[in-house]
Amino acid sequence: VTLTIGVDVGGTKVLGGVVTPDGEVLAIERRVTPDDDARQTAAVIADVVSDLVAAHPGVEAVGVGAAGWISADRSSVLFAPNVAWRNEPLRDRIAEKVGLPVVVENDANAAAWAEYRFGAARGVPDALLVTVGTGIGGGIIANGELFRGAFGVAGEIGHVRVVPDGLPCGCGRRGCFEQYCSGPALVREARALAEAYPTRAARLLALAGGEVDAIQGPQVTQAAIEGDDAAVEAFAVIGRWLGQGLADLVTIWDPGVLVLGGGVAEAGELLLAPARTAYTAALGPRVEFAVAEIHGAELGNSAGLIGAADLARIR
Ligand SMILES: [Zn+2]
Repeated sequence: VTLTIGVDVGGTKVLGGVVTPDGEVLAIERRVTPDDDARQTAAVIADVVSDLVAAHPGVEAVGVGAAGWISADRSSVLFAPNVAWRNEPLRDRIAEKVGLPVVVENDANAAAWAEYRFGAARGVPDALLVTVGTGIGGGIIANGELFRGAFGVAGEIGHVRVVPDGLPCGCGRRGCFEQYCSGPALVREARALAEAYPTRAARLLALAGGEVDAIQGPQVTQAAIEGDDAAVEAFAVIGRWLGQGLADLVTIWDPGVLVLGGGVAEAGELLLAPARTAYTAALGPRVEFAVAEIHGAELGNSAGLIGAADLARIR
């Protein structure tokens, strides 16, 4: 059995795994993503790979899924809104450290590929994956292949402008989709609601030790699961943005399925229910005809690394 390693590099963590041709993950390594230091991040990725190779010497190649714009030749990270990369030659930097062939892919593209090969979009040759986490990622499967665009950076749907002159974004522009629908957006809404309506946010505030500014994403999810009014409303607010955005994507791409992944989407129906309602409303008469359903991703946190590993295998 040929094994490959996939590494998912996000704004907060580096997650690596050894993966079989069937998409099974045999071992996992996790590190914190270094702040504002591109070389250090490459070194952490190489460390994760080296540890996994030491335990699984048969590994043949490495795929790295990175949160950023990847060059068309898949050698470099051109730009990353949430990681300290500018024209970073990530492929060669890692390859020389680990002594294995390396391919670099956008993290959401890698996750989309994994869901298409082994998960919620299996057998659907036209599919869209949308991940909601630190930001919004998009991956497009068209005719059974990853659609990268002419310059390698298709599917950056988190940076579609949805509010003219809206909130500033890490990409240098304003009003981007991910400023209104993401983990940070969820926390911002929850804090604002807790500040304005503390009695509606009683459970949420209790989980945060009574401090509005101490509210974090996992507490919003937990409070919402327990029925906290403000936490449920925070999910509804970002869910409405999501549903509208998915309807716009369907207008362009007409996929067979929409797959929703990422850390925030792990809240399940708390996010999916308001998203579906807004999606249906935004589609209008289109819903009378065949149209993509929204499904939760099936591979969870591992999608990015599984997809990166599979792309390394078919490089
Ligand atoms: Zn942006």
